[in-house]
Amino acid sequence: MRTIWVLGDQLNRSIGAMADADPASDRILMVESLGKLRSKRWHRQRAHFVLTAMRRFAAELDELGYEVDLRRADSLRAGHDAHVAELSPDEVVATEPASWDGLEMLRDLGVTVVRSNQFLCHYEEFAGWADGRSSFKMEDFYRWQRQRLGYLIDHDGEPVGGRWNFDDENREPPPKGGDDPWPDPQASQLDEVDRRVLADLDEWGVGTWGADPDGTWATSRRAALSRLRHFTREVLPSFGPHEDAMVERSWHLAHSVLSPYMNVGLLLPGEVCDAAQQAFDDGGVPINSAEGFIRQVIGWREYVWGVYWLWMPDYRSRNALGADRPVPPAFTGAAETDMNCVGTCIEGLHDRAYNHHIQRLMVLGNLAMLHGVDPWAMTDWMWSNFVDGAEWVMLPNVIGMSQWADGGKMATKPYAAGGNYIDTMSDYCGSCRFDRKQRTGEDACPFTTLYWDFLARHHERLVKNPRVARQVRASERLSDLPAVRERAVEVRSMLDDGTL
Ligand code: SF4
Repeated sequence: MRTIWVLGDQLNRSIGAMADADPASDRILMVESLGKLRSKRWHRQRAHFVLTAMRRFAAELDELGYEVDLRRADSLRAGHDAHVAELSPDEVVATEPASWDGLEMLRDLGVTVVRSNQFLCHYEEFAGWADGRSSFKMEDFYRWQRQRLGYLIDHDGEPVGGRWNFDDENREPPPKGGDDPWPDPQASQLDEVDRRVLADLDEWGVGTWGADPDGTWATSRRAALSRLRHFTREVLPSFGPHEDAMVERSWHLAHSVLSPYMNVGLLLPGEVCDAAQQAFDDGGVPINSAEGFIRQVIGWREYVWGVYWLWMPDYRSRNALGADRPVPPAFTGAAETDMNCVGTCIEGLHDRAYNHHIQRLMVLGNLAMLHGVDPWAMTDWMWSNFVDGAEWVMLPNVIGMSQWADGGKMATKPYAAGGNYIDTMSDYCGSCRFDRKQRTGEDACPFTTLYWDFLARHHERLVKNPRVARQVRASERLSDLPAVRERAVEVRSMLDDGTL
């Protein structure tokens, strides 16, 4: 018999090696690696989500007549070796994994690797697209994807609505409140499988930070498909306008919150985009919402996947700004913070293992870059705390996008901002003890102080960048720049010792 080894982020019968599987000739191997579970301080809901989804997928395959060897081992490699020693399969096959290290391991073990169809653009196709380009912008890749995949393309091959990108309609500040157009996400009841996983996590000492799961995250394909239907029917029509807004009263706004399911295979990106296209064709979904969502999936998500494979393994060690500080205690839950924006994000992270993209980029990522957090430490922290975390998604998003640690390979300018940006795009500043306009003194907003300090600290590099040169020149003209830089030293020290 042949063994198909299914990894924890390949939980779908249509993926790679599973696509032509047959219970009569194929046995399934799945490994719960204690080494992996103990390798990081995983958020409780992140660890629960992956383990529960794995166990439910194993049970689904068992019901279909497969012999499933779901085993616990000290490592993935040890689980494979024990399986082979006990059952002597004719061959072990696996779908291409989502990580560089995973692929090395499979090759090393002599596992037959089957090409993955978990993304719409295989990374070899991405490399072909990128080949010979001096710069490869996400927007160019996205248009190439739109054309070849046919989403929101009219009969003449032109973009529906006459434009490729409706982003300028999707940057509205938060509404004042009262009549929010953001339906509550669906939730599931926890059952015996969930409770068993939580008991196992406790026994292993894994998932010690973060709230218990409350049913927010679906852990089966059936429930994930229900979340997709709910999103396209109820939420997608209002997806666009407040895509970049942050409000204390809603953790989800009109975000799809479907990324965890795509990242472990419970949903496939093609079916997600087909559902969005269908909802648009049926009417009721404005083009800016449909286009903005499809761009996130076939554009940004697939672009990040492509650059991960293109630039690994060196990309992990990029640190263009020489940042070397640890992740602040205010992020890890080891200290309280008076910064309302950070406190709101971390409370949401604790409760659901989730922040939406603009909280990740412009609050947490922004502060980490302004402060000078080591980019790999930040990547690792995000990877282990977000329910949709994975190395392939966090590495380009953190190293390339939010920390600008690749020196501009991916983003043409650092996403640095002071308190004014956060005030425009959120309702956080009104009730914060700090004053977003002040850059010196005890009441100064730490973002504002560190923003000006960041421009001055990296003057030499940034002044040559036409996209930020104007702000760098403005920092030179600040009459109180010496005092700002003095305050920045205090702020960074307080961030390090958890007293801010
Ligand atoms: Fe955050 Fe500064 Fe606004 Fe406070 S004033 S919420 S620290 S940006």
